[in-house]
Amino acid sequence: MKEGQHNTPDSPKSPPSYITSTSSNNYTSPSSDSSSGRSYLRLNKSPLLSPSTSNQLPPKSPVSPRAAETVKRSFFRFNSTPASGANNLINSTPSTNPYITNMGQTGSNVKRSQSDIQTFLDKEKEKFIEKIENPIKQNAHLDDFELLRTIGTGSFGRVLLVTHRHNADEKVALKILDKQVVVKMKQIDHTLAEKKILQALTCPFIVKLLYTFKDNSYLYLGLEYAPGGEMFTHLRAFGRYTEDMTRFYAAQIVLAFEYLHHLGVIYRDLKPENLLFSSDGYLKMTDFGFAKRVKDRTWTLCGTPEYLAPEIILSRGYNKGVDYWALGVLMYEMSAGYPPFFADQPIQIYEKIVSGRVRFPNHFTVDLKDLLKNLLQVDLTRRYGNLKPGVRDIKEHRWFKDMDFISIYEKTITAPFIPRTDRENYETYEEQPLTVSSTERYPREFTEF
Ligand code: AMP
Repeated sequence: MKEGQHNTPDSPKSPPSYITSTSSNNYTSPSSDSSSGRSYLRLNKSPLLSPSTSNQLPPKSPVSPRAAETVKRSFFRFNSTPASGANNLINSTPSTNPYITNMGQTGSNVKRSQSDIQTFLDKEKEKFIEKIENPIKQNAHLDDFELLRTIGTGSFGRVLLVTHRHNADEKVALKILDKQVVVKMKQIDHTLAEKKILQALTCPFIVKLLYTFKDNSYLYLGLEYAPGGEMFTHLRAFGRYTEDMTRFYAAQIVLAFEYLHHLGVIYRDLKPENLLFSSDGYLKMTDFGFAKRVKDRTWTLCGTPEYLAPEIILSRGYNKGVDYWALGVLMYEMSAGYPPFFADQPIQIYEKIVSGRVRFPNHFTVDLKDLLKNLLQVDLTRRYGNLKPGVRDIKEHRWFKDMDFISIYEKTITAPFIPRTDRENYETYEEQPLTVSSTERYPREFTEF
């Protein structure tokens, strides 16, 4: 999540001329959705946190990372719901990790490997539940860290690069949330969930939560530091990614979603701004401020306009399908250099999203277009990832036919782009002192933290 990106440079207001082909999805008009009792127009009128006005098309041609900063998208949240490393699998070997024993093989081995994956995921779920039920509490203190500089800002605070005083080599991204702001923005539940869920996750493509503590004024999340910067910045610098690059990154998101969804967690905030680069060129998903454990359905309106699934806009109950819609948006944005649904105003974006029409650039391959049509599918009973075979519909799609998901999981494939870490990959921010109150703020609200 980012704050206050309301200024945008001049941007084209109509689609680039090289977009030609179209496809249609089934679509029911939002006005016919009277059962929800809420028009999608209300998204634009939230008294809580307005959606960003920075929803314009990013520049088409490659731009420098600095020029890209001004067009970052904002997010919005509404509270309208009616109703350390020991387990890190990056270092696992095929012999100890059933997930990767037989994947990628054909014939009867496919069946075998499917059951291996299932067994692996079931075990991961047991570990997750154990950690959710016994969450880590207060395993550090602000004095344990040397504060270096601010590397990011969120709506409720900032992220500082820090080092541990006992180990100067250990760099940590310290996310600091101001309790007062969290309360004012009615984000207590989301903040508690972010900590509780993140501390229980173990996935090579998700930032690890290493430390957590609080003081009178702030909540602290000490995250594994990803030194390579945001995909947002790099993608704007590249202009667009080749399909091979898009595939490499998309495969990691698919694996992360397969894991999260098996645990019953939906992520709800996929976008290039939340994908950070490790020094090895692989991705780390960050910002679990919208992540939620969902058994059946949820109704909370939250996300980033360009990445919202139609069922969120239409105020229908939704589940993991929204993440696969967002995967389609991300794959499109990586390959095109701009998102599939864009306009000046969020309301215009929403109209495009629910219209069921997607236009693809000429350079997209037939296979990519086919997969995207199945992800950017308004009809949930036809959207890939959300059907009976689950994520297999995506992993076994022709566009992924040469993808070795095991090697991606093991990180044995050399990444197509290795970020330079001898220079700063994050923006520079004006530093602000942390002012800690002499009395404890909101002790009851954040007991769980
Ligand atoms: P968030 O509030 O979680 O969205 O974080 C705000 C920004 O801080 C992100 O967009 C990144 O630029 C930066 N950031 C967050 N987590 C990390 C991390 N683990 N490593 C490096 N930078 C991070």
